[in-house]
Amino acid sequence: MDPVQTIVHQDGVLIIGAGLAGLSAALAVAKEGRRVLVVSPVTLGTGCASSWAQGGMAVALGADDTPELHAEDTLEAGAGLSDPEAVRVLTTEGPEAVRRLLGLGAPFDRDAQGTLVQSLEAAHSRPRVARVGGDGAGAAIMAAVIASVRGEPMIEVWENGQALSLLSDTSGAVRGALIQCGEDRIEVTAHAVILATGGIGGLYATTTDPAEVRGQGLALAALVGAVIVDPEFVQFHPTAIDVGLDPAPLATEALRGEGATLIDAGGQPFMKRYHPQGDLAPRDVVARAVAAEQARGGAWLDARAAIGELFPDEFPAVFRACMAAGLDPRIQPIPVAPAVHYHMGGVWTDLDGGTSVLGLYAAGECASTGVHGANRLASNSLLEAAVFGTRAGKAAASELRSGDAALLSAEPAPSLPHAALQRLRKAMDLGAGVTRDAPSLTRLISEIDALEAEYGRALELIAARLVAEAALARTHSRGAHFRRDFPELGAVRHTLRTLTTRPALMAAE
Ligand SMILES: Cc1cc2nc3c(=O)[nH]c(=O)nc-3n(C[C@H](O)[C@H](O)[C@H](O)COP(=O)(O)OP(=O)(O)OC[C@H]3O[C@@H](n4cnc5c(N)ncnc54)[C@H](O)[C@@H]3O)c2cc1C
Repeated sequence: MDPVQTIVHQDGVLIIGAGLAGLSAALAVAKEGRRVLVVSPVTLGTGCASSWAQGGMAVALGADDTPELHAEDTLEAGAGLSDPEAVRVLTTEGPEAVRRLLGLGAPFDRDAQGTLVQSLEAAHSRPRVARVGGDGAGAAIMAAVIASVRGEPMIEVWENGQALSLLSDTSGAVRGALIQCGEDRIEVTAHAVILATGGIGGLYATTTDPAEVRGQGLALAALVGAVIVDPEFVQFHPTAIDVGLDPAPLATEALRGEGATLIDAGGQPFMKRYHPQGDLAPRDVVARAVAAEQARGGAWLDARAAIGELFPDEFPAVFRACMAAGLDPRIQPIPVAPAVHYHMGGVWTDLDGGTSVLGLYAAGECASTGVHGANRLASNSLLEAAVFGTRAGKAAASELRSGDAALLSAEPAPSLPHAALQRLRKAMDLGAGVTRDAPSLTRLISEIDALEAEYGRALELIAARLVAEAALARTHSRGAHFRRDFPELGAVRHTLRTLTTRPALMAAE
């Protein structure tokens, strides 16, 4: 093991991850007058899903909309496993979060009267997704937030840092992290640590997520004994553009909101065969339908009539991605496939981002606030990152632990070589995909065992095991978790896992 070369004492908060959740938290800590260090493996604005978000942010700001209606749709999508109080916080604080982002300069689309333009997405009962430049919401919101972060003297940013492990003290509290910064390993101690490491898409071969996002936060938290909730709930986006790219570019759901249609190999619309809401059915239903049609010969998104010549102006990111792959979506249907897109499971938190471990907070996609349940409602995750990132930052800023207990030495998790990661990603696709069953999950767990025997307990293997074992243990289907061998809906239960106690299933409150 390489020696630790430096120790840095951060008189404030350490944030691991620099997507919308991490940076919202950083701004909130600074607002409280506390110092904050943000660690990102790459330059701000890259290596995070937040910058890639296309559709936008769901928020009840329309004349015929209310936070209560937004909450109803969110609870319905969550398939009985969302926490109504967390959903209430999300939907009632949503409008303020959007106003805050507008204040930072996020250029949400407006109509001629200056009203925010809001579009319809699947399973929303109202058009309520605030967009920027058609499909450029994530990049534009992040640009505004990054400019504010860079202008805030209380915030320091390391743009080549990767957390290898969390530092605990003898009382069990988290007191910092071991960070790999280029060639250096740096122990950073802090009053509180916020994990904002995003989702788990990079653990799968077929994903829309950046490669940097591989469930490291989940594993880091699990290693210090934090409770992990429902890791088996993985959302597959039904319309990743199927042109052999890794990660797969996305054809946003807003296209179907504008009238684009899924068609089969014979050119016929197929979604009505699967669900009365057709192309705007819940995301898990559409993902399974697209997977089924793929097996029969293929699935395409036909946006020729609905968008056609408006593509370059209305959906410039999708248009660019298609044209780069030699496909003109104005005149050709877009080949699509389901791809891992979002992780509903995560590190258990209370409404202020506090985890089950003292000194450790989590926010954004790596957290399980209770908002998404078994299935995320489209465009609720940027909102969650902004609302709960801010709450976590505010709460962490109030941590003033003196840190009298002695620090335990930090053991970095072994890293997984590139070829081994690719093996894992293929095994995750095959074993814990859109549909799973006991044989596929058992084979996956054997592959994780084999990789662990060869390379040690890498963070990616810990995160993958959490997903696979929880999926095997949940012997029914619910939300995004579909078991071929147990297709029926089972009891409304959460999976709770820790690495230190036996896995358990707990009935939802
Ligand atoms: C293509 C695409 C389109 C999407 N469209 C929408 C949409 O329209 N609306 C919506 O609401 N949601 C959308 N989502 C989902 C949404 O973007 C994410 O859920 C949300 O941005 C997550 O924010 P986050 O801050 O939690 O994570 P991220 O933005 O992914 O940031 C995670 C950060 O953690 C860093 N990190 C990871 N591991 C480590 C480590 N060990 N050490 C240090 N740093 C680490 C990463 O590099 C990154 O900086 C989309 C996602 C994708 C991929």
